[in-house]
Amino acid sequence: MNFSELGLAPELLRAVAEKGYDTPTPIQAKAIPAVLSGRDVLAGAQTGTGKTAGFVLPLLQKLDSAQGRAPRVLVLSPTRELTAQIAENARVYGRYKNLRTLVIFGGVSERPQIDGLRQGCDLLIATPGRLLDLVEQKVCDLSAVRHLVLDEADRMLDMGFIHAIRRIIRLLPAERQNLMFSATYSDDIRDLAARMLRNPVTVEVASRNTTAERVEQVAFKVPKEHKRHLLVHLFESGAAGEGAWHQALVFTRTKHGANRLAQQLEAAGIRAAAIHGNKSQAARVRALSDFKDGKIAALVATEVASRGLDIKELPQVVNYELPNVPEDYVHRIGRTARAGATGRAVSLVSADEAGLLRDIERTMRQSVPVLATPAFKIVESRPAATAGTAARGEVNRPNASPGNRAGSAPRRAGHGGRPGSRSHH
Ligand code: AMP
Repeated sequence: MNFSELGLAPELLRAVAEKGYDTPTPIQAKAIPAVLSGRDVLAGAQTGTGKTAGFVLPLLQKLDSAQGRAPRVLVLSPTRELTAQIAENARVYGRYKNLRTLVIFGGVSERPQIDGLRQGCDLLIATPGRLLDLVEQKVCDLSAVRHLVLDEADRMLDMGFIHAIRRIIRLLPAERQNLMFSATYSDDIRDLAARMLRNPVTVEVASRNTTAERVEQVAFKVPKEHKRHLLVHLFESGAAGEGAWHQALVFTRTKHGANRLAQQLEAAGIRAAAIHGNKSQAARVRALSDFKDGKIAALVATEVASRGLDIKELPQVVNYELPNVPEDYVHRIGRTARAGATGRAVSLVSADEAGLLRDIERTMRQSVPVLATPAFKIVESRPAATAGTAARGEVNRPNASPGNRAGSAPRRAGHGGRPGSRSHH
């Protein structure tokens, strides 16, 4: 199958060819004709499957060319990053079409967004909260929307956007096409789909395990307070004979934890940056581009910030802390092995996380092999002033019981106050 068999117009085929795609991904092969036919669509697909082009391409075709001021396509997405990436896709695929794409998300000034709305757009890609703010200020007119997309609907519900979504939907014309994408199907998602979609075509590209199956997953058991030392070792020597890591996305549970780990990695000589919701948009964009350009080796991210990050051929994902929700594990490891590539996901599992690992394995119906923890050094960096001269410590005995884990490793003088005094909160 190639793109020209999907019913797409020549100017879209040209943009797709220039982007370097020759074969549609399974979701594209199914979703594109369904969207072109005007039907509602319910698609079970995660990021990494090519779902964005699956809805952006046919919608660009349906819009034809620029018209009026009010948007005719509304895409709701959970995060700024995903919103920006969808818009970027729309611009790239729509480069030979005369259409205007506008992005709206929170955390940045409203002014340029309001100006953009006044100038007019054909596609509006938005996070629900900011969109609703602007609608309430009467600067955003949704009365012309003919196509609604809920992207990563499950994540939007997890983030508490259900009320905003319902209110936005009530403002839309009843006569419209609805597309819903979700990686998982909770009861809430089914309920929303039942209310929103009319006789939808359901597109299920493989089970949600598929990404998981292409990712080589391993776990190492390690005491919480030694995780950062093991991580430094993995960056320097690799996890399973693959050599030093040049690029890894590392997940922490909290924003604070992300900041602290990024600092600790830097102190150990590994270029790192943190990306999370408290960072300014400019800082997030910079961190992501530095990471993509290879200027930093470790991008330390929280769950929400990671959604929709599109980084080509990301070789390693690290679960520095396991997520509480098993589905989040699937989303996280979906950051690697994208678009057919394979990748590795390494989980650092402390004793208190054993139950979380079991839940994850049950959800995926797949076990995560626990490998022998490699020997790694405990290297305590000195306080900031002399951070460059890390004191070399003792080689960790992988199987040392957690009780005497710090046995002969240098102990930090005092505690509290300094970053790194706790590995988790
Ligand atoms: P998505 O799931 O939409 O985030 O897309 C995941 C990645 O796959 C992105 O890097 C896309 O640029 C890429 N991609 C999308 N469609 C194709 C295709 N047909 N062939 C190769 N790569 C693709």
